[in-house]
Amino acid sequence: MARQADCKVLLFVSPVAEELTCPICLEVFNSPVMLECGHTFCKECFHVCMENKRECPLCKSPCSVDYAPRNNILIASMVDNLLIYCRFGISWNPTSQEWEQTTTNSNLSAVPYCKEVIPLSKKEDHEQNCPFRVVRCKYWTLGCEQQVRFVQLDEHHSQCPYLIADRYDKQKDVKIQRLQTQIEAQDQQITKLQEANKSLHLTLTQVVSFLQEQFPAFEVPNILDPKPILSKQSTELQNCTEISDVSLHDEPLEPVFYERISNVEENPLQVVDSLSHMGGIESLAMSDNFLISACWDGTVNLWNLTDLEHSGSLECGADVRDLFLRDSRYLYCGCSSGILSMWDIEQQHKLAETLIPSNSDVLSQVAIQNTLFASSVTSKIYQYETT
Ligand SMILES: [Zn+2]
Ligand SMILES: [Zn+2]
Ligand SMILES: [Zn+2]
Ligand SMILES: [Zn+2]
Repeated sequence: MARQADCKVLLFVSPVAEELTCPICLEVFNSPVMLECGHTFCKECFHVCMENKRECPLCKSPCSVDYAPRNNILIASMVDNLLIYCRFGISWNPTSQEWEQTTTNSNLSAVPYCKEVIPLSKKEDHEQNCPFRVVRCKYWTLGCEQQVRFVQLDEHHSQCPYLIADRYDKQKDVKIQRLQTQIEAQDQQITKLQEANKSLHLTLTQVVSFLQEQFPAFEVPNILDPKPILSKQSTELQNCTEISDVSLHDEPLEPVFYERISNVEENPLQVVDSLSHMGGIESLAMSDNFLISACWDGTVNLWNLTDLEHSGSLECGADVRDLFLRDSRYLYCGCSSGILSMWDIEQQHKLAETLIPSNSDVLSQVAIQNTLFASSVTSKIYQYETT
């Protein structure tokens, strides 16, 4: 069988002598064997012939069934020494319909190619390591179908359109890993908090039963149900602070405040300087009379709108996350740990306080008339009545 069947393409540097070609397949001998008659064939060609008729295909000399021809070492070594061009240095010429060394094909002169001339016996060794062998891009798993010469691979990789996809993929992996670590840490934190919550609940139960024993008249407040507390306290406090007597504040504002705001761009510290919280200010609200600021340190400050002078403080007891002002007078403060308090800012007096059921941070609130909605970090929104 032809050597070309397994080596695909052979291009000899000079024409091959007829003595080195097999009379059956007409190609250069591949593992030549010699019969007793002196004729030589490729080993495989000989065996194929013997399946038809046990005789020499040329001179018809008979061959017995157990006849094993000898290797033709002389012819084999002559074939091994035939010089060929590396297959990464040859190309198909469509005009001449032949393979030729790339040097002779002007169309491909810009493409790097192998100029090596090698003995046929070294063909595989050389071509496996040839710097001009054709390889595929390392991002082929991401979809790059580009095949390039080995020497051009680095250059291609540096500008392969799939490089970005690869980086994105790796970044994504890193981010996922980081998030998983965070999730694990959060889970541990949750477990710890749940345990702490359990032991607190136990202590609380003990305290309550102790108080009940000592003071039979003691009423146990239902701290896990915020609705009745806020409503009840509000009603009581509403009476004693006369919230129903709300006066409107129609006095025009003095221009100084607006000047300050308009100056913010040139001198942004001007307004901030006048506020004196012990930490970051997380929320602002504004009534007809006051600018109201809420701080991490648990304080809410009131600033007189006309001169921005400090005009009062409310102590909320925990990091104040969000303020909501209703009817320019009733201030809702949503804090961390789920503390929700309601104030009358004209009297600077706390009207009611409660805990949201999950004891988790309050993030935002809105209220209209006597309905308050408070959102928490647990993705829940609680509704309260604030009569
Ligand atoms: Zn042959
Ligand atoms: Zn013969
Ligand atoms: Zn080569
Ligand atoms: Zn590529």
